[in-house]
Amino acid sequence: MIVGGKVKKNLSYLLVLLLICIPIYRVKATTLNDLYAEVNSLEKSYNASKQRANMSKAELANVKASIANTESEVKRVQNEIVKAENDIKANEKKIMEKKKETNQMLLYLQLSSGQGDSMLEYVFEADNYTDFIYRYAVVSQMSEYNSKLMDELNALIKQITEQKANLAKQQESLNVKRKELQEKYVLVQAQAKKENDAGLSISEQISEKRKLIKHYEKIGCSKSQDVTACVVAYNRRQSAASSAPRGGGSATTLASGWSYPVSSFVLSSLYGERRGSVRHYAVDLATPEGSNVYAVKEGVVLSARVPSNGCGGMIIQISHGNYTSLYMHLIDSYVSVGSYVNGGQVIGISGGGPREVAKWGDGCTGGAHLHFAMAYGGSMIGYSSEAGATFNPGRIFPRMG
Ligand SMILES: [Zn+2]
Repeated sequence: MIVGGKVKKNLSYLLVLLLICIPIYRVKATTLNDLYAEVNSLEKSYNASKQRANMSKAELANVKASIANTESEVKRVQNEIVKAENDIKANEKKIMEKKKETNQMLLYLQLSSGQGDSMLEYVFEADNYTDFIYRYAVVSQMSEYNSKLMDELNALIKQITEQKANLAKQQESLNVKRKELQEKYVLVQAQAKKENDAGLSISEQISEKRKLIKHYEKIGCSKSQDVTACVVAYNRRQSAASSAPRGGGSATTLASGWSYPVSSFVLSSLYGERRGSVRHYAVDLATPEGSNVYAVKEGVVLSARVPSNGCGGMIIQISHGNYTSLYMHLIDSYVSVGSYVNGGQVIGISGGGPREVAKWGDGCTGGAHLHFAMAYGGSMIGYSSEAGATFNPGRIFPRMG
């Protein structure tokens, strides 16, 4: 019992040790070779996705053509129905005319017989046998001819009516087919859009990765070197080479380890503030132009660029692993994509006022300030702060919320 317990105890120590060790072994350094392989496989899936997108497009064109065929078929059947209706009307008219003609003939015969009001009377009023035969032949031929004609016309109407009923059935099934095709079209269209979007998102990932590769190649990372180590070494070499501290003052760092993005400011716009139909998912920190802007924590620069329309001026995004921070309306940036920055490091100088507006044509600022946003996750989508990902920086920084 005791021995068994000891074995169990030792085994559980081993288990704990394994649990501690496994994650360490699982964390694999990323190298340029890894990135090349990633781009390679992304390109493969991009091509596959493009092929699927093309297939969807072809299917979409097929369904479209089928709908067009069905439409013209529906039109043809509709025309035939109209034609059948007209034929029925024309034949009914013929029957009515024939009846009228017969009545007129009977009337004439009655009148010419002098008296009496029926065909039989006309026949029996014959003066002699020859006259009788003649009268009988006239009446019987006439009625035979009439009834034959009427029968034919009635048969024709019946036939056309049946044809019309068939056409109506055909029309009904064509309508069903058309509806099915239209529903299919919507589905295939959605599928095509999905494939297309998937392709776009893959090509975005490829271009992001290529940008990183270019940066790592530029700063001299070797193919099998851990890129994080390479960036850190690069930054050390850089700061050793150029050194003069920029601007005055230094970052104010909280006990939690976070540094304020600017050292002195007045909170001029709150997180979530309404601005017409949109909300402001950042804080505005009014501060004189030219103030140092500090990285709020160590991390890697995701982007540092001025959008083509100038709105926001120089914008920097830094990934801190679980969080991302964003700094807008800067006059200048001292960092570039892929650089590793320390918490409290000067990353640029603030703008928002006339100097920055003159430099970048930033039409999205109303005075000297730093627009500062924080989000959960490794990156913000584009430069717009999204409600779902952002949170009130006041949760980390007193005086901001
Ligand atoms: Zn703002």
